[in-house]
Amino acid sequence: MLKNIIKSTLIASFGAILFSCGGTAEQKEEVVNVYTHRHYEADQQLFDKFTEQTGIKVNVVSASADELIQKLELEGANSPADVLITVDAGRLHRAESKGLFQSVSSETLNSNIPAKFRDPEGFWFGLTYRARIFAYSTERVKPEELSTYEALTEPQWKGRILTRSSENIYNQSLMASVIAQHGKEGAEQWAAGLLANMAREPKGSDRDQIKAVAAGEGDVAIVNTYYIGIMLNDENEEERKAAEKIAIFFPNQNDRGTHINISGAGVTKHAPNKDNAIKLIEFLSAAEAQGMLANINFEYPVNPNVAFSVLLTQWGTFKADEVNLSVLGDNNSDAVVIFDKVGWK
Ligand code: FE
Repeated sequence: MLKNIIKSTLIASFGAILFSCGGTAEQKEEVVNVYTHRHYEADQQLFDKFTEQTGIKVNVVSASADELIQKLELEGANSPADVLITVDAGRLHRAESKGLFQSVSSETLNSNIPAKFRDPEGFWFGLTYRARIFAYSTERVKPEELSTYEALTEPQWKGRILTRSSENIYNQSLMASVIAQHGKEGAEQWAAGLLANMAREPKGSDRDQIKAVAAGEGDVAIVNTYYIGIMLNDENEEERKAAEKIAIFFPNQNDRGTHINISGAGVTKHAPNKDNAIKLIEFLSAAEAQGMLANINFEYPVNPNVAFSVLLTQWGTFKADEVNLSVLGDNNSDAVVIFDKVGWK
């Protein structure tokens, strides 16, 4: 009898020890699991800084945005992910419409991030932005000749325009902004006009368009700002030389402004560490992290209290299209239909 009591007490206390070990271990290890499309070394430095300040460990899974979205869908409620970081409002919208995000309300996020850079319902938050601008040949184009996205459909640009394929989300979002401005019919006319002026069939990356301008294949490329920063700082001399042959023009400064897009983050629907997820996004939107985050990739910080990097300051300030970025997601499927209709591959 006594033996049995001792035995069961031992088992009970052993269990308690095990249990309390488990408990302590869990308390010690606060984590946040991040699925990210960004793959910059400096992002890791930022995560380390977050861990230093909060004690919350950041586990990172990086892959392409579409792979991560698919992974989240497959994992469903069992997903370990707390935060999804990706580029382009069109993609953030895609994740939102698949029910992969949850709505978050945070005073810190609302004060650090202007309303136009975040989802109205708090499903995602912009962290940096980039502009889709003209990279033009300094040898063959005078900036006075340039004005708007619309004006590139005029006959003097025949055979001179370069941009990538319509499969790319950057062009889909640009088209979505044109739809917001001109309606579907107006956007279709624009797309057909631009296609008729292209120097070659749309192909390659944004960098390839800049190289094609440098090589004389075309005169004006429609690309994202940061690629010029990346190329100017590339260790490969060819990339640097190509970028040095072009200048930047911000279109539509006298009307709606230049089309911009974001990289951003949202808290996943089934986040096991929701509070930590919010803390991480808040950290990334605060002044200290914003400077680093934007500078890493020659992007603009969304937080208006953070200064632009030297290169971006050289490019000058510009008026950005004020349309709420969620509209780009809403218009995405119409954009794809229009590209298809006009034959922009
Ligand atoms: Fe990019």
